[in-house]
Formats: sequence, C-alpha cells, structure tokens
Amino acid sequence: MSDIMNTGDISDSDDSNVENQSLSSNINSSRTREGDIDTSIDINDNYEPCYTKDQLDKINKFFQLKGKYDEIVRRKKQKIINQDKLSKREKKRLWDSQKIKCINCKKPVGTFFSVKNRRLLAICGASKNTGDQNIQPCKLNIDIQLANITTMQETINSYAKYKEEDKESIIKTKLDLLFNFTNEEEAITEFEKKRDEFDADVATYNNYLELFMDIHDSKEKRESLKILLLKKESLIKEIKTILKPDESDSDNVKPSRIVEALDIQISDLNDVLSQIKNLKYEYYKVVEDDENPLIHKLDTKTIITERSEIIIDNECVINKFVM
Ligand SMILES: [Zn+2]
Repeated sequence: MSDIMNTGDISDSDDSNVENQSLSSNINSSRTREGDIDTSIDINDNYEPCYTKDQLDKINKFFQLKGKYDEIVRRKKQKIINQDKLSKREKKRLWDSQKIKCINCKKPVGTFFSVKNRRLLAICGASKNTGDQNIQPCKLNIDIQLANITTMQETINSYAKYKEEDKESIIKTKLDLLFNFTNEEEAITEFEKKRDEFDADVATYNNYLELFMDIHDSKEKRESLKILLLKKESLIKEIKTILKPDESDSDNVKPSRIVEALDIQISDLNDVLSQIKNLKYEYYKVVEDDENPLIHKLDTKTIITERSEIIIDNECVINKFVM
C-alpha cells in the first residue's frame, strides 16, 4: 500500500532555499505545472477534480513566481560560474555578495521559497534575513498544503499486483495444509482471512478500473467517436463528388461548385473535426519549440494527469495567500 502513498506530480524536494544553495550545485530547472490546459472538453463523466479552479490558480501562481525567481538565480549563478579566472573561493565569495531582489517587493533581500512535504511556501526574504535589519519584509505570504494525490492508473497497477500476491498467498495456505505444515483449523482461519483481503483488493481494483474507463474510455465516448468518424468520411465524400468535373465539361469545375464545397468544409467538416479532436485528446495544443521559436509542433495527450488524479487522504488547503 505504501508505494502508492507518495506519488503525485509535484516534486517533494526542497530546492528553493537560497541561503542553502551552494554554488557548485546543479542548476535546477524550475518546476511548473502544466499550463494552459485546453478546457474545451465537454464530456459528462464522474470525474471530480482534486483541485478547485481557485486552488489551481493559486498553485499555478506560486510555481509561476518560483519559476521566475529560480530563473533569475540560475542566470546569476551561471554568470559567476563562467568567470574562468576566479578561483572556487572567489566564486563563492562573489555569490555570497549577490543581492537577489524579492520577487514581490523588489528589495534586495531575496524571496524564500520552499516545496517540501507537498507544502508550498513563499515569503519575503526580509522575514528570514539576518543581515539587514532595516529592511521591512513585504506582505508576501503563500502557504499552500497540496492534496495527497495519486493517479487512477497508479492505483489500478498497484492493486493488480496486490491481488496477484493475494492469490499466491492463498495457494501457499492450501499447500501448507496439504503438506501438513499446519493443521486444518489454522489453515481455514488463515484461508478466510486471505480470501477477505483478496476480495477487498479485487473490489478496489474494479472500482478504479471502472472509474478510469468511465472517464477516459467510456462506451458513449467511443460510440460518439464512431459516429463522428463516419460523418467525417461522408462529408469528405460529398466534397469530392461536388468537385468532380462534369463529363460534358471536360476537366473544369464551376466556381459555384467550389464555393459549395468550401461551404461544406467551413460549416460542417471543421465542426466535426473539432469534435473528434476534443473526444480523442484531453490536451491539444500547438507549442513553440524550446530551441527554435520559428518551429511549432503539435502536442497532444489522450489522457492528462489533471483528469486522472485522485485524492488519497488530505485535501488541498490554502492556508495563506497574500501578495
Ligand atoms: Zn519582499
């Protein structure tokens, strides 16, 4: 059971305490949540999101600030690291003398960020700073406890394993009795206990499998998709027929027919294609290439984590959010 308790998509490591960051440590890339989710999915299902819109906005804001701050820190470090003439000690001294601005008030006190035990913290560096007592901390105060989360896929995989282990253990109980390693009374008690465990694990497995299918691969969804694909085929066929040149008119197509064909494409085909896209993909976006902004690529996901997460125990709590 324990191996499904500590999953989730937000890292638990604390990589954000500026005071403790050593110059030689690897420069961490900032962790941001998947942004700009296409929310045009309008399939009715039983999925209950783990976070409300307000909670998600606040969590995103935190990672946005932290990402921006980490990037500034990374650039400053890089500049020092690249100065080949400086010794390690000089580099360290130079880094210690760096004044990074608080992301909120811009005073040279830095910002304290922490991501630890699924708790997100951000406060003005002046609240922690022991150096300059004259600088008053700004009111930045973010304290968010994230929900304890796993995914349906993770749960299904784990329980598939548990029920196999239960089966083996039941067989072992039977063999123990067969080879007289145990008496009948003990074997029956043991067998009943193990069968109950097996039943419970099978029930959990089935529940999540059903939920998963209902949300990501329901019969309704598959049937709608089938109908839409047929519609698409017939519209394309219709367009092709309209654009076919008349036998009398050799290979010329009348302009009025081209208009008619375009009309079908614009009013009907595009709509069908967009519905197919929404049913097939939970995430669909054209994104800029990281290295070359002139290149764009299509990024699609049939299943997104945001629609597969389930809460294990604690729900998300926004303890403080002041900026
Ligand atoms: Zn501040």
